Amino acid sequence: SLQIASLPLQSFLDDLHDKYKLEQEGAVADYIPELAKVNPDAFSICIATVNGEVYKVGDYNQLFTIQSISKVFVYGLALDDHGRDYILTRVGVEPTGDAFNAIVLDEQSKRPYNPMVNAGAIATTSLIKGFGASERLNRMLDMFRRYIGHDVFVDIAVFTSERTTGHRNRAMAHLMLNFGMIDEPIDEALDLYFQQCAVMVNCQDLAVMAATLANKGVNPISKEQAVDSRYIKDILSVMYTCGMYNFAGEWAYKVGIPAKSGISGGIIAVVPNQMGIAVFSPRLDSRGNSVRGVKVCEELSQHFGLHLFECS
Ligand code: GLU
Repeated sequence: SLQIASLPLQSFLDDLHDKYKLEQEGAVADYIPELAKVNPDAFSICIATVNGEVYKVGDYNQLFTIQSISKVFVYGLALDDHGRDYILTRVGVEPTGDAFNAIVLDEQSKRPYNPMVNAGAIATTSLIKGFGASERLNRMLDMFRRYIGHDVFVDIAVFTSERTTGHRNRAMAHLMLNFGMIDEPIDEALDLYFQQCAVMVNCQDLAVMAATLANKGVNPISKEQAVDSRYIKDILSVMYTCGMYNFAGEWAYKVGIPAKSGISGGIIAVVPNQMGIAVFSPRLDSRGNSVRGVKVCEELSQHFGLHLFECS
């Protein structure tokens, strides 16, 4: 296996950052009005190893909302809350090839296809346990804290912005209510979903979160167990097959490691038992993935032979 500590990893990251910082392709997401305010040039790359070492370059302290990357961790919390069998009856594990916001449910089972598309993520969020909205939110924030190692908060401006414009997500929740796939009160589930998307993180936080998934659910710095280790394989499997929007297949083929991207420009990638990788750069390609993020991960994977099925 790879001896990450012996590699000149920091200088490799510095070079990667230099190489791609002039890349201007893509456009910042603006369908949530508040997201359009981000500095489009922001760029950082971080790696956290399962030994707790952190390598970082660029704007790694800049905060941004986690958006869809949250889906991975909330899925873990739902599994912790209810167990695998029950969650499978509510949310499938089938990739769709459709866009993240597609309004589709599995015709036979009426379940959303998987927990990484919005419909599946909203259904997953609706299952988080707690007495009332504030206890559910606090349990979710505490879950993020375990992965990150410090308290997190919700960006109220982004939350409010999405809450008032998120008609498509609202429509999906109603559709699922119609099929009995989620329960009332759906406004509460939607609020919690918009709140989880608006949790503030920086690139370094994301790398530690990814490293926690790489480290059997144990935060490699605080040593806290963030999620039951038995669910790591569930989480990484859906990341591998569904984590990169309708680019997931090509990503699995080319980069070959479980990953999740978000519309605010973050990508996390997990190399099991080795490290978590995070990239932040808000300009997105047509499928919603960070342009620089994809390039950086492709290059890291190739250079260090990270593809899970690499044999040479
Ligand atoms: N809050 C966003 C939405 O539900 C998340 C989208 C994303 O990052 O893919 O539309």
